[in-house]
Parts: sequence; structure tokens; C-alpha cells
Amino acid sequence: MDKPSQLKPASWLVAAGRPSEPGQPLNTPLVPASNFILGKERAYARDGGTPTWEALEEIVGGLEAGRAVAFASGMAAVAAVFDQLPPGAVVVLPDDCYQGVVGLALVGAEKGRWSVQRLALEDTEGWIRACAEADLIWLESPSNPLLTVVDLAAIGSAPRKPGAILAVDNTFATPLNQQPLEFGATVSIQSVTKFIGGHSDLLGGIATTRDEALWQTLQKSRTLNGATPGTLEAFLAVRGARTLALRLQKAQENAQALAERLQQHPQVARVRYPGLPSHPTHAIAKRVLKGFGTIISFDLLGGAAEADALCRNVQLIRHATSLGGVESTMERRAAIPGQTHLPPSLLRLSVGIEDVEDLWADLEAALQAL
Ligand SMILES: *Cc1c(COP(=O)(O)O)cnc(C)c1O
Repeated sequence: MDKPSQLKPASWLVAAGRPSEPGQPLNTPLVPASNFILGKERAYARDGGTPTWEALEEIVGGLEAGRAVAFASGMAAVAAVFDQLPPGAVVVLPDDCYQGVVGLALVGAEKGRWSVQRLALEDTEGWIRACAEADLIWLESPSNPLLTVVDLAAIGSAPRKPGAILAVDNTFATPLNQQPLEFGATVSIQSVTKFIGGHSDLLGGIATTRDEALWQTLQKSRTLNGATPGTLEAFLAVRGARTLALRLQKAQENAQALAERLQQHPQVARVRYPGLPSHPTHAIAKRVLKGFGTIISFDLLGGAAEADALCRNVQLIRHATSLGGVESTMERRAAIPGQTHLPPSLLRLSVGIEDVEDLWADLEAALQAL
């Protein structure tokens, strides 16, 4: 396969990880196998992987310009990174952060494995200091669900405590909109469940790094914890990845248009979307992101009850959690326990690839019916 630098990302997504010998299938086949005939390196799938996972790793590793390890879920990839920490490590987490990561970090802290500090994502100076002092600096950008964009250029180049890991949860950006390793991050994490899969039909995760030793230990952690991707899921993720560039482009155009229209709507109090000049970190987003993403958060002038009613009123947009699929989904985030930092009526809308006029008609009708 050509080096990723020789192909643009959209072409790489189509061409990476596919067979090249005459007579082989044109696209990456599903290889369901737990074990292989002995005599070559690959003997057992939990240790040696399968050709289907490797295709996914080649695709994502190439986009992020590193080496990737695929996992059973985004959280399995996150857990493998936490697995690297020495006893008593200092972990710094964002104030606005994926709840599963917060949960994992707090359980480990309760058991005395590490200590956890929280820091506002906007506090660039604080993160630069954390790089010099902490063992794991965990960033998420754009963040969930406030969509704060971090100045990765500044933080990624800050001096780091020897052995420290700067990890970036790159799920909301996707490897197309942001390459954390290019900014100096140690490891970039994706929930493949979201945009790479893109069809709300699988769970998967992946971690990518340029640090050969870390790549080895992430693999070892996957093997020993059994956090391996399902082969069907890896196949579906490869299939999803083929269209990632198109899906992202269309959904992003839709999101920008909807964010602008929502901002004008008399029942809407505030819209958060990194592509709006009114977004607190719009200027940073313009510098570090190649696109503003497909997630919009907005709150209503009414309270939580109105937000819940809006979720019930929409029809084309589905009332569902999660994000990054071809279909638009929406939910009230403060309804989820532990999200006390959010306005009660905050809605997170994951914009899909439907026709934007149908999406807007659905939102307008749902707002009107409140
Ligand atoms: C979904 C998600 C995860 C966890 O991924 P799973 O595949 O659900 O385990 C981690 N980080 C972010 C930002 C996510 O959206």
C-alpha cells in the first residue's frame, strides 16, 4: 500500500487495507477465525489479530500518521491507555469529558491506583503546567457535550514530565478533522462506534501512537485483557470508514446550516457549535481543526421539561443517545446522572446526512409544538 502521505485522506480511506494480489477480493474480506494453521507468526487471533482488524488498523493508523491498535470498544482503548500508568500516577482530566472516561478514572482513584485532578479545557496555561507535572494528561477536543476546542498546538508542544502520556480523545473530531499526533500527542483515541463505523451498528475503539514501545504495550494490554475487536465489527468498521470523508463533509455542512438557523430561533437560548463565531473557542477551532464537526449543543429558553418535549416531538431526528451515525439523533444531556456542570435544558444533536431542509422542518415543527 502507498504511504498515507502520498494519498489524500479521502483516497486513503477507500484504498487502505484492501488486498492487492490478482484473484483476491477487491475489498477487505471478513475473516472469521480464532486460530490459524501453525507455521507462520499468526497462531491465535487474541494474540496475533485477524486480517480484518489489521485493515482497520492500517486505515486509521495511516490517517493519524501512527500505528494503531484496534479494540472491542472506545472504552477498551481508553482502559488500555490507563493500564500504562505506574502506581500512584497523577491523572489530569478535563472538566467537560466523556462520562465513561471520568467513571473509569474515578474507580481507579478510589482503589488508590492513581489520583485524578480536573481542569477547565479553556485553561491552556493550566494544561501546559499539567504536562510538566502529571503522568497522564487527558484531553478531549471538541469536548462532549460543550464542544470546547483545545489549543492542541500549544499544549502538544509543551515540555512534558519524562514518561508522561498526552492522550487525546479524538472521537468528535475524527482523524479527518484533527491529527493529535501531529501536534505532539502521545496517543490518539477514537470510539470507532461513532464516526468511523458511522451506521450505529457496531462497537469498536482504536488507539494510535508513534511511540513504538507504547504500541507494543497497548497490544499486550489488549491481548492480556482480551479487549479484542469482534471480526464482524471490524469488517463493518472498515466498510464504514470507506465513506467517512463523504459522510463527514455532508453532515458537517448540515450542522453548520442548522446551527446558524437555530441561533436565530426565538425559542432557542444558546447554540454551541465550533463553526459559529459566537462559540467561545471558535478562534482556536479555526486554527486546529480542519472542519467543525457534526455535533451541535443548544439550550432552550424553556427548561428541562421543554427540552424533553422537543426530544419527543422530533420525528426524522431520532431521540437516541450516541452520535456519529448517518442518522440525526438528539438527547438531553443533563438527564444523564453526573452531568451537573450542564444547563438542565442542554440538548446534544448529532447531525446526520439527511437533507438539511427535512432536518430543519423537523426541528421547526418540534419547536412550534412546544
Ligand atoms: C462514545 C465515546 C467514547 C466511548 O466509546 P465506546 O465505543 O462507547 O466504548 C469515548 N469518548 C467519546 C468522546 C465518545 O463519544
